[in-house]
Amino acid sequence: MVFELLDGSTGYVLLEKGLPEDDLFRQIWSARALVEKKYHSLVKQTHESYLKLGAKYITTNSYATQPTWYEATFGTEEGRRVMAAAMDEESSAEVLELVGSIGPLGLMCAHAKLSAQLAVESRHEFASGGGGGGGGAEGNKDNNNESDRNNHSNNNHNHSNNNHNNNNHNDENSICILGSLPPLVESHRPDLFWDALEAKGEAFFLDNYKDLAKALLEGGADCLVLETMNCWEEAELALRAIRELMAELAGTRSQQKQDVIVSLEGSLRGKDLKPQPHLAPAWVRKVLEFDLGPTARLRGVGFNCAPPEDILESLEHLSTEGVLAELETRDILVMVYANLHERDIYDEGFEMPSVQSPQRPEARKVTRRGDLIETAALATADEQTTIPCAGYVKFGRKITRDFGVKILGGCCGCGPQGIAAIAQHV
Ligand SMILES: [Zn+2]
Repeated sequence: MVFELLDGSTGYVLLEKGLPEDDLFRQIWSARALVEKKYHSLVKQTHESYLKLGAKYITTNSYATQPTWYEATFGTEEGRRVMAAAMDEESSAEVLELVGSIGPLGLMCAHAKLSAQLAVESRHEFASGGGGGGGGAEGNKDNNNESDRNNHSNNNHNHSNNNHNNNNHNDENSICILGSLPPLVESHRPDLFWDALEAKGEAFFLDNYKDLAKALLEGGADCLVLETMNCWEEAELALRAIRELMAELAGTRSQQKQDVIVSLEGSLRGKDLKPQPHLAPAWVRKVLEFDLGPTARLRGVGFNCAPPEDILESLEHLSTEGVLAELETRDILVMVYANLHERDIYDEGFEMPSVQSPQRPEARKVTRRGDLIETAALATADEQTTIPCAGYVKFGRKITRDFGVKILGGCCGCGPQGIAAIAQHV
């Protein structure tokens, strides 16, 4: 592999593993699994399914721990009613008591921290050979190939642990936990970001990003990743929050700089929701120019949750304008994880069901794109063969070879099958 493997989507994997697709799930999506203890193991199983495939980066299940959904769900009568209806009496009483003492945003941070702890536990159990026994020979081969040029360093320095194996498949330090920081209002909706900025002010973003980042680091995340940023301005607020947090934590942590990755929503939509991939060079330059302060560093820039075609266009603009070359010179990785769904729902205005109408009859079903996920013939180096997720594999080959993308995974619609396909065939 010429790239390092990132994991895939979380929400539907959790559902497949037994998380109920109830009204509470529709309100807080994958955070549903954090609310009740009995589902925590499903989060770990989801991480494990990607670790088994050789993922070197796993992402905390904190994409849905964000203030808009938590306020609506745990901070309103109607939201709490939906929650109580979804859970047994004892569990909901427990959550209500907690909300009573720490508030909806306190619960959000507790869940963000928990999501990181669950990822740490999964990694540990996987590395110590538990939870299904690790990967096969193929995983070992990949990892050995990677170790030489793998110059990223995780923040944990427990080299003294019992590294009795000669097989770095079981090396916890080779697996990086990405602490996910999502858009705080809605994904794929720059218009709503600007509305919220005007209505709530910068403090809403700075305070919540700071609290969420702190919780993720306390829980054990190695690297913070801003995911699906609607626009540069949203990413900038998150970066400012991280810089402030790091300044406050200075002296309390190891001297190693905190790694940060900024991943933009790969279509770079405008307020009118129209894709504008031609803005990729300008937005990435702004990310590069941002001063993260003395105790944090930019480890990568990414493009995620957009159709592969849009991401490809963004990469082409970056290449033409010399930004990819600059990233390489500065040793900043490019990360891509595309969305494999039909694009119309995003083009027309993506929306989570609201608390007021969790079961809107007009809510459309999101469908995956056949041309990306179907098994089809694809030429390998020396033969023509049929492979699963052929369309996405083809995209993966192109961006890792032509554009030097170093971290590749999948976003919405790309589960373990898709990740297995790129692990084996890209
Ligand atoms: Zn996505």
